[in-house]
Amino acid sequence: MRPPAALPYRGAMTTLKYLGGYDEQVQARVRELIAQGRLGEVLRDKYTEAHAVRNDNALYEYTVAIKDRYMRSAERLNKVVYDGKLQVVRHALGTHTTVSRVQGSKLKASREIRIAAVFRDAPAAFLRMIVVHELAHLKQREHDKPFYQLCTHMAPDYHQLEFDLRLYLTHLECARPAGDPISP
Ligand SMILES: [Zn+2]
Repeated sequence: MRPPAALPYRGAMTTLKYLGGYDEQVQARVRELIAQGRLGEVLRDKYTEAHAVRNDNALYEYTVAIKDRYMRSAERLNKVVYDGKLQVVRHALGTHTTVSRVQGSKLKASREIRIAAVFRDAPAAFLRMIVVHELAHLKQREHDKPFYQLCTHMAPDYHQLEFDLRLYLTHLECARPAGDPISP
């Protein structure tokens, strides 16, 4: 029997914008999961733990605890907040080097970290990943080798987490109703 023509998700055939840096084999496997409507399920099975970091005060405490453990010598953070206006890919994962460079200088000047609001409801592991990513930017502006070394120092599973986060964002994008922003 042929599968139904209508896909359970929108955009299964479109570009996987969060996965542009990964090879075609990986992207094909992800497209397959999307077409089967199973991407969300795969992620839910793997990332079962939620987090309790519900507001900006809790987010500040959470971030400072990681910083104090791994980056004690870095400057004190003035502020860590959830930001509903942040575009995750551009500003959080920095696919665009130019943008991340600008953001990096801003971070350094203000010693402030902004976390896209989508992470408030994301699994605990993804919040940890993005906080580690932003903390690493306190010392390394670019997404270069020293930057990722610092990330894996704080989170040994960093690369897997970043890949799975990209899957999670892809899932949210495919599952949302047309026209909705990705942040809740
Ligand atoms: Zn970055």
